[in-house]
Amino acid sequence: MYRITIKEGKDKAPRRHHPWVFSGAMDSVEPSYTGPDWAEVVSKSGMFIAYGWYDEESHISLRLMSWNKKEKTGDDFIRKLVREAVFRRKEFFSLPDTTAFRLIHGEADFLPGFACDAYGKEIRILISSRFADTFLPVVASELTAMLNPSIIEAVTDRQFAGIEGLKERVRHFRNGEETKEDENRENVRFIESGIWYEAAPGKGQKSGFYCDQRDNRVITGHYAKGKTVLDLFSYTGSFTLHALKNGALSVDAVDSSESALRHLLYQIHLNEDKKTLPEGSRDRVSITPSDAFDFIRASEDGKYDMMILDPPKLAKTKSALENAMKAYKDLNRVAMMKIRNGGIIATYSCSGAMTRDDFRMMLGWAATDAGCEIQILHTLSAGEDHPVRLSFPESEYLKGYLIRVLK
Ligand code: SAH
Repeated sequence: MYRITIKEGKDKAPRRHHPWVFSGAMDSVEPSYTGPDWAEVVSKSGMFIAYGWYDEESHISLRLMSWNKKEKTGDDFIRKLVREAVFRRKEFFSLPDTTAFRLIHGEADFLPGFACDAYGKEIRILISSRFADTFLPVVASELTAMLNPSIIEAVTDRQFAGIEGLKERVRHFRNGEETKEDENRENVRFIESGIWYEAAPGKGQKSGFYCDQRDNRVITGHYAKGKTVLDLFSYTGSFTLHALKNGALSVDAVDSSESALRHLLYQIHLNEDKKTLPEGSRDRVSITPSDAFDFIRASEDGKYDMMILDPPKLAKTKSALENAMKAYKDLNRVAMMKIRNGGIIATYSCSGAMTRDDFRMMLGWAATDAGCEIQILHTLSAGEDHPVRLSFPESEYLKGYLIRVLK
């Protein structure tokens, strides 16, 4: 175990339980570095602060996980963190109409870089840190012991592979042991809030489905009855499906990915078959593979009375925030200009670098430029299986508002 001393004046954040320590905050590492290992972290005066994982090749070389001096680091500690994260979600295992939810939410569950989701009988893991890549077998083994999934599939997050120096790969675990991919593996089916979905092995974005929007899909869906809806950045259509379930008149789904849109249509058929969507739902939907910004700019004024704007992360880092703010504002301004008087917009940002205040301010600018008034009807965030850890503000990445536009 390393002993890492934090520079004087740099120990505020680690003392307040922020889990990231960058090399500039470290005074000394003893003994000298020979490879990744656990570390005891102390202040300049030698006071214990925390235990963490030290890996010089990671872009965040020290990741803190426990502020309890009595904790014993090692694989059993990781197993305990996994058990605690899963037990915190025990109510989710008996929900009648939802079998997809997050089991481990990275730093917010004290397991940096692990995003683990249950999809019915399968578990999908997105790896975004060297720490997670190293401890994946331990986490997979504990999840298997607890939940006995049919398979665990772990994918390296493309966005982090480069900065963490990780090889992009897909790994599989069956009965707790690492195995080769089964070429004939079928898509997994799962249900969320009464709607069926199917995810293909290892190919979807993130881990195939965004279960952070679960509550927002339901809330947004409630406004769809009788509406002409635009689902921008629809992906595989979760918002479209909820709009249909709630009696939308029509839904135009737009995404740059044609395969996501085809899957959207497949999921409509799946739900018609399962009788979870009204008959004729397919006939009320049109799909357009297109750039969403181009599509909305070219759309007819006043055609829609409801819009869903769920773009991908437009600000990937703090430094990219300024340009991203312009893109968010442009998107929202055009939506406000195009929507009918009294129309409803569900607007989201999943950029961790953008605070909720930034987002709200951006909406204000957009409304001013569009010459309209905005009423906030709902403040939206990720579901409770994606908790925001207060000592780690970055965990509040998904922000949204359901607004009414008054002209
Ligand atoms: N609302 C979806 C998730 C959206 S994820 C759900 O709840 O499941 C963001 C989507 O935006 C992705 O499907 C991606 O293909 C799409 N996308 C990214 N850039 C785009 C662009 N410029 N125009 C249209 N779609 C885009």
